Amino acid sequence: MARYKFVCRSCKFECISSIGREVGLHSSRVAMVCKSCSTIDAYTVAHPGSINTEISRAPVCTSCHSSNHLSEWDGLTCPHCNTSMRALGGDVDAEKPFKYW
Ligand SMILES: [Zn+2]
Ligand SMILES: [Zn+2]
Repeated sequence: MARYKFVCRSCKFECISSIGREVGLHSSRVAMVCKSCSTIDAYTVAHPGSINTEISRAPVCTSCHSSNHLSEWDGLTCPHCNTSMRALGGDVDAEKPFKYW
């Protein structure tokens, strides 16, 4: 799953994230935004009916440890000021071996 650097021109917020979701066998990696912490990160979301209990729980924010404020990120909207962010350059992992965690 390619990751890109995003920059907000309005509030200077920067993050590195993938866009959309990478669908796996039992779970997906989904770019999600926490409305409470204004952070963007990739989370593992289990598919409905998954038998893997490790990942069948709802994803929780890495900052506030709550799932209440997480929603799928549209790959565009700045979580701080709600203007459109821009992707800078190409895949940030292209030069390095890909690591999941
Ligand atoms: Zn912004
Ligand atoms: Zn949070």
